[in-house]
Amino acid sequence: MANPEQSSKDLSDAFTKKLSLASRSVHADDYINNHQAVAPPLHVSTTFRYSRDPEKLQPWTNLNPNAPHDSHIYSRDSAPNTTRFEALLTSILGAPSLTYSSGLAAFHALIVFLNPKRVAIGAGYHGCHGVLSILHKLNGLQQLDLTLDSDLALLQKGDVIHVETPLNPTGEARDLSYYRRLADEKGCYLTVDATFAPPPLLDPFKWGADIVMHSGTKYFGGHSDMLAGVLAVRPDREQWVRGLREERLHLGSVMGSLEGWLGVRSLRTLELRVRRQSENAQRLVEWLDGEVKARKGVVGEVVEKVVHASLQEEAKVEGSWLREQMPEGYGPVFAIWMKEEAVAKRLPSTLHLFHHATSLGGVESLIEWRAMSDQKCDKRLLRVSVGVEGWEDLKEDLIQGFEALKTVGE
Ligand SMILES: *Cc1c(COP(=O)(O)O)cnc(C)c1O
Repeated sequence: MANPEQSSKDLSDAFTKKLSLASRSVHADDYINNHQAVAPPLHVSTTFRYSRDPEKLQPWTNLNPNAPHDSHIYSRDSAPNTTRFEALLTSILGAPSLTYSSGLAAFHALIVFLNPKRVAIGAGYHGCHGVLSILHKLNGLQQLDLTLDSDLALLQKGDVIHVETPLNPTGEARDLSYYRRLADEKGCYLTVDATFAPPPLLDPFKWGADIVMHSGTKYFGGHSDMLAGVLAVRPDREQWVRGLREERLHLGSVMGSLEGWLGVRSLRTLELRVRRQSENAQRLVEWLDGEVKARKGVVGEVVEKVVHASLQEEAKVEGSWLREQMPEGYGPVFAIWMKEEAVAKRLPSTLHLFHHATSLGGVESLIEWRAMSDQKCDKRLLRVSVGVEGWEDLKEDLIQGFEALKTVGE
């Protein structure tokens, strides 16, 4: 009997291997579509019929959920909408991908699977530290500081170096090649949280990542209406996906079917959205930074500094690691430091186009006085997630907001 895993993989590869990212986002799951409907159906079933032929009954055979005639059993293992989303992600990320109920559920699954004694991790998204603290309670897992040489000296074979790039909340990028060399030196795995730089901005596998994690809630979802997490595994470690799926079955951290359906709908426009959002951010950052440095106008009066990967020294240097690793743009998230905490706290309420809310990655621009969700964050910092609006409108909105607050704190 033909191996169903192989045949359906060949099918999808034949369809999509040579296509651009934009085309794969629309067509990489065509091979799963065995209905006349152009738009994907939403299947809500949690359970799926076994074969009617008693001779064909085999206990729990679910070798390939996306075989042309799918073989789902129970939705804690796999279900049609989430596996269709996974088929698209596998093509878009160029690596076998699995989905989870949230970004943190994906990070949890990643650490449980690799089972390190120590994890070296930098600042970045605070929730990941929370997951590591829970595992510390369970088995003594040690959290090391990625920025301290004395901590890095403690790393041993089988430990994990976890790098977030670009970094929350400032949008600054990190050099993945540097961390790959470090991981090789120590015999560690390199895992990358690339939530802030989805395709086409960054391909962490090209720079040596073993596992790439995304909060799918952000750019893959893209419309602030679904929670999801993604793990993609280096293509030459494909067998890890089987292990991760077996563990997910027991951790139970699968996505819901509606989220899987929303995910497919969202990925169709991933490339359009991300390019536009990243370009918008770069334009706003360039304008703000120019005004701050020239001490000009209302921006010069109220803003202390702007931080974003596009402003890192290496962004100006041809052939630098930053230019090489992020040739398509530096991501849609950046940070503004106001001169006064009182102004930082009030600015979001003066804006019309930016919602004052946490999270990021949606088509609508968001701004967050970050102290609202991260107690340790500097109280003058505002995190901006740029949407797909016209960037001049966003600029005008910021100007009128700054104007309204010029005298606060004096
Ligand atoms: C949002 C986020 C997470 C957590 O993802 P959830 O989907 O909210 O669980 C992890 N890392 C980064 C960089 C994030 O922005």
